[in-house]
Amino acid sequence: MKRLHKTRLIGKDSNILAITLFGHVFTRYPERINKYVMNHELIHCRQQRELLYLPFFIIYGVEWLIKRFKYGNWQLAYRNISFEKEAYANDRDLHYLNSRHLFGQWRRSNPLRYGGHRQPFR
Ligand SMILES: [Zn+2]
Repeated sequence: MKRLHKTRLIGKDSNILAITLFGHVFTRYPERINKYVMNHELIHCRQQRELLYLPFFIIYGVEWLIKRFKYGNWQLAYRNISFEKEAYANDRDLHYLNSRHLFGQWRRSNPLRYGGHRQPFR
């Protein structure tokens, strides 16, 4: 199944490189999607699917708002969303999805895998 799609809906000057929706990855610049970025987005695919999609987006948005208030800027808030922390902590491990546990974004059982995961990104 083709998962990567080119779209012009993401602005040229946007900070957003890719958006993952319902198992598909959308980007303005497919040539910038290397295997690690794709792995990051596929981790989001898994997170979305296991939460049956809509709850993922609600939780993501609420977490972003809370962390936007807590950290005072959107970039720190974004990097500290539980879904992003799991994806950034594991996107260089191309086999991560083979061994990922259900609801991995909320697990703290493997300190090696989640090195730094407990600490907020700064
Ligand atoms: Zn992400």
